[in-house]
Amino acid sequence: MRIPVIAGNWKMYKTIAEAVDFIEKIKPVAAKADHCEVVVAPPFTALAAAAHAAKGSKVAVAAQDLHSDKEGAHTGDVSPVMLRDAGCTHVIIGHSERRHDHAETDEQVNRKLKAALAAGLTPIVCVGEMLEERESGRTEEVLRTQFEGGFAGLTPSDFSRIMIAYEPVWAIGTGRTATPEMAAESHRVLRELARKKFGEKEASAVRILYGGSVKPENVGGLMAQEEIDGALVGGASLKVDSFTALVNYPRA
Ligand code: PEP
Repeated sequence: MRIPVIAGNWKMYKTIAEAVDFIEKIKPVAAKADHCEVVVAPPFTALAAAAHAAKGSKVAVAAQDLHSDKEGAHTGDVSPVMLRDAGCTHVIIGHSERRHDHAETDEQVNRKLKAALAAGLTPIVCVGEMLEERESGRTEEVLRTQFEGGFAGLTPSDFSRIMIAYEPVWAIGTGRTATPEMAAESHRVLRELARKKFGEKEASAVRILYGGSVKPENVGGLMAQEEIDGALVGGASLKVDSFTALVNYPRA
């Protein structure tokens, strides 16, 4: 059985005090949410304080990126060891905003992924097509390329420690959500790629989250899809009320 995950990506929002206040408010919500895991990804500056506030609770703290080296002359970067030191258990890798703002390649995603695994972090690896790729019928090809490149050289055991987030780029921060059926179709493609590369057991166990303008009004329809194992949420994860509604998504 795949335990659903509701993850909030706070991007470049929230001061340390705001992050801690949010975590204090969401802890009792997460404590009652036996049906899912709860993850929040504050900005780097708030990670240590957020992890301290979340300690001993059901709220897991993720970083939004990492460097693949343990240490070195990389101005502005943060290593996997530093993320562990700050109290993170998870890390988002290959978010489309990193791929586009920082020209991150699948090869870099792969290096970061291996570094995260080596440090004992749980990676949430993002993949997804752009609008013109979907409109030209290339969604599956794009997902295959990102999957093959991003997950190259991993063993089935490595793969069993990863979560995937399918995030169609055209749906991120645009208010335009993939329909539940559209999202589920891409999740099926990803699970089939996982089956071919890593085997049946790993493919049926991997959690694939959907991301792209998920909000309290549409989370129920998305989560009702058997293929959708959770949500990676940007905008609607920033307010306690809407994140609470997402964690408590309608269930049958
Ligand atoms: C995201 O940041 O991963 C995301 C999906 O953002 P939003 O929910 O705002 O579209």
